[in-house]
Amino acid sequence: MDLIIKNGTLVDSIRCYQANLAIAEGKIRAIFLGNKNYKAEKVVDAEKKMVFPGLVDSHVHFQLQDMGKIISTDNFASGTKAAACGGVTTIIDFADQMRGESPLKSFYERKKDADSQVAIDYSLHVSKTDTKFLDEIPTLISEGVTSFKFFTTYSWRNLDLDDAELLVLFREVKKCRGMVMGHCENDDMVIRNINSLIQAGKTDPIFHAHSRPHIAEEEAIQRVLLFTKKTGVKLHLAHLTTKEGSDLLSQAKKQGLNVTGETCPHYLLLNEREYKGSEGYLNLMSPPLRHAKDQQALMKRVQDGTIDQIITDHCEFSRKSKGDGNFPFHQVLNGIPGIETSLPLMHDFLINKQKLTYPQLISLMSTKPAQIFGLYPQKGSLMVGTDADLVIFDPNVERTITPEILHYSIDWNPYSGLKVEGWPVMTILRGKILYEKGNFVGPHNKGKFLKCSIR
Ligand SMILES: [Zn+2]
Repeated sequence: MDLIIKNGTLVDSIRCYQANLAIAEGKIRAIFLGNKNYKAEKVVDAEKKMVFPGLVDSHVHFQLQDMGKIISTDNFASGTKAAACGGVTTIIDFADQMRGESPLKSFYERKKDADSQVAIDYSLHVSKTDTKFLDEIPTLISEGVTSFKFFTTYSWRNLDLDDAELLVLFREVKKCRGMVMGHCENDDMVIRNINSLIQAGKTDPIFHAHSRPHIAEEEAIQRVLLFTKKTGVKLHLAHLTTKEGSDLLSQAKKQGLNVTGETCPHYLLLNEREYKGSEGYLNLMSPPLRHAKDQQALMKRVQDGTIDQIITDHCEFSRKSKGDGNFPFHQVLNGIPGIETSLPLMHDFLINKQKLTYPQLISLMSTKPAQIFGLYPQKGSLMVGTDADLVIFDPNVERTITPEILHYSIDWNPYSGLKVEGWPVMTILRGKILYEKGNFVGPHNKGKFLKCSIR
């Protein structure tokens, strides 16, 4: 064997149990109790620690491009290293079709960019921004893309689909046995609000939240659910933020629609109070942070299993690229970092404070994302024969989050100063140690592209 991890508490989406793990050639070869006389090159003692399957963050934006130009502060190399330091071993990023151009071309280009840089394994969603090149969908599916992202907003960035286009896309994806994934906000409402707020001189960060009200999310989700019902396509709702949105997901599931949904740590932990003060501009993202009642409602839906997964929507920008507080809200780049802190934050909040179980945490952050997009059981599980992607987690260590202890390329963090109990101590990708005791120690670009399959 290459590696043995002994004395840890193993956690998967079903149970916690004491066992040892033996790893060879990148796979879990045995899960056992006692001493089996395996010879191993390295033995790691995980006593008093938990052993999780590596996290699967199925909604991230590294090296984000806008109209072909890189605008985010990280790239695939720095972003995936920070991810590994947070216990994430698989990400799903996005290849955004440039309107009027081939999505297959965007996919190959994005894959080429990522392949030479990634430190962890990855796959890609493809964003469709028009209804051209629908004949490329079967090829994309055979290349390992299962999910086609659509936006109901961002018309000013040429990203949105209108209602007729949504129906066309849903029918085609259903026919090809893929799935759709939606960013749902009503574009007309958002545009009108932005224009009237800016005209009235209301440019502070808080007005970003006012420009994208609850009803914009609720209306778009309701409409998209109707199209899902009529076409029978499998739908995943991206980053739910409101009570209304999560209630709609619950109703749709009760009606038997093939729909899943996600939220992010920031919608559970932060609210629109963050937009006040001189650093409020840093926390601009879309949809925006909401109210305490939404945080409580989302928490209830996480607890009862309506919300299937917690992902980060990680998108990293420096203070400077966000305008240093000098831009009106509609010109501030949207997105916050999240991938390195999601496990410690959600462990502290969901387990220590909200009393969820460890299997629930692993289901939300590893198993369900792998299952929904078609990477399970290779990812998201602890089973003999699957990839040896692991996080060794110390539930008792206390850390205060500061930019200095993290591995991002920026000097700010939305959770700076927050104390959490529990932190990852080791991350392993296919049997290789990537992160240990606070440092990235692994090979830099040995991550692999993963073909998703939901058939
Ligand atoms: Zn996103």
